[in-house]
Amino acid sequence: MAAAGLLTLVPSEKAKAFSSKAKGKIVVVGGGAAGISMAARLQRWLDEPDITLIDPSDRQFYQPGFTLIASGVYKPDDVWKEQKDCIPKGIKWIKDKVVAMDPVMNQVTTDQNGILSYDFLVLTPGLQINNVEGITRTRLGEGNAHTIYDFEGAQKTWEAIQELVQKGGHAIFTDTYTKHKCGGAPKKICLLTEHQARKQKKREQLQMDFYTASKALYDVPLYTPRLLDIYQERNIPIHLRTRIKGIDTQAKEVHFEKIETFGEEKIYTPFKESYDFLHFTPPMTAPDFARRSGLCNTDDPTAEQAWITVDKHTMVHTKYPNIVSLGDCSNLPTSKTSAAIRKQVPIAAKNLISLMEGKEVAEKYNGYAACPIVTDYGHVLLCEFDYEKKQDSTFPFSLLDVSKEQWTAWLLKVYILKPLYFYGMLNGLA
Ligand SMILES: Cc1cc2nc3c(=O)[nH]c(=O)nc-3n(C[C@H](O)[C@H](O)[C@H](O)COP(=O)(O)OP(=O)(O)OC[C@H]3O[C@@H](n4cnc5c(N)ncnc54)[C@H](O)[C@@H]3O)c2cc1C
Repeated sequence: MAAAGLLTLVPSEKAKAFSSKAKGKIVVVGGGAAGISMAARLQRWLDEPDITLIDPSDRQFYQPGFTLIASGVYKPDDVWKEQKDCIPKGIKWIKDKVVAMDPVMNQVTTDQNGILSYDFLVLTPGLQINNVEGITRTRLGEGNAHTIYDFEGAQKTWEAIQELVQKGGHAIFTDTYTKHKCGGAPKKICLLTEHQARKQKKREQLQMDFYTASKALYDVPLYTPRLLDIYQERNIPIHLRTRIKGIDTQAKEVHFEKIETFGEEKIYTPFKESYDFLHFTPPMTAPDFARRSGLCNTDDPTAEQAWITVDKHTMVHTKYPNIVSLGDCSNLPTSKTSAAIRKQVPIAAKNLISLMEGKEVAEKYNGYAACPIVTDYGHVLLCEFDYEKKQDSTFPFSLLDVSKEQWTAWLLKVYILKPLYFYGMLNGLA
């Protein structure tokens, strides 16, 4: 396993040979998967780096681990490190949050540290998780309504799943109607709950339903048939084009809207379902300060579809050529995952250096994203694809039928991807 982990580092190590004498003050907004990886790459590749990172967090979370906390595979302390230990040496860290940006004046305004000027800006503040009507982040768990899109929430979900399996009842799982990070996560926690019940020989007392706002459970042709089969084999009905609207935690009812299209017209029919256990996915948007900045595809700061607008291949901002943006906050039309970010970072970093050198940007991102869909305790359907939704395998499983779930991909998911994140990606090595 360690060897496989090292293998994944090899191609990037070649890139260490690259270096540039380009100069300029770089400000990175947001030090998560994308921000720290970008800072680390730029630090390695520039002879005289001048990089400031603005991020308010004490801790760096490996968010893909939240699903494994919620299924009892990881302990909460397995998925985080102190932020100070993750920021590469030589990077100036301002522990603060950005509240406004002025791309015309090349300035960002922080909450506590005033205004900062930049020559080049890297925008990586991730996304903002919003409330579903009837529940807030601080009330997660109330009325047995849970989400793994939150560190505390993932811990409460694991407690609730264990109780559900013992007591039985109706378990409802939903995704959401906005773009959201790791579209596979709601499916994974549903399948892991089902397998947990089977492992405990309690499956018969559990009724399970999966509701999605999309018109299909999954839209990558190589993997969709097997995923649909799995849901059918496990007796989990899939309800399409159904969006979550709110939760009545007192009555333990979830409110939905069924969306039907008749020609140009869309009809929204409200209905509600009772549940004993609910796993929901909250709606997500670009952070408010980004939506107010004039850097998104719409100037409406309340628009759900407002994401930072970049060229989908170069990741350079469509209006301001001294800004690059990548990761969850951007409008890159691919899956919002750290696997995608791992591929975006070296390309965005090289392109930023070209801009600093006054050259044309040449590196192109093909939309690669990966989603390891955990189908049970021991198997993962490792979905890897590009903008065209064509298979784009990068891990060394070429002898296996990747359209089916594999135990080797489970080993990758549980034992390799986390160290690859903390020691490879965040150090600018993978
Ligand atoms: C439950 C779950 C399961 C997932 N599963 C997978 C998976 O299996 N595989 C996979 O590849 N990906 C998965 N992901 C997605 C992956 O974790 C994200 O896509 C990735 O972390 C996004 O990186 P980012 O840098 O864009 O944002 P983040 O990593 O969220 O970082 C954003 C950073 O910006 C900072 N920030 C926010 N606001 C401001 C501000 N105003 N000023 C300055 N800084 C700010 C934050 O403090 C944070 O450090 C999962 C995520 C979740 C929640």
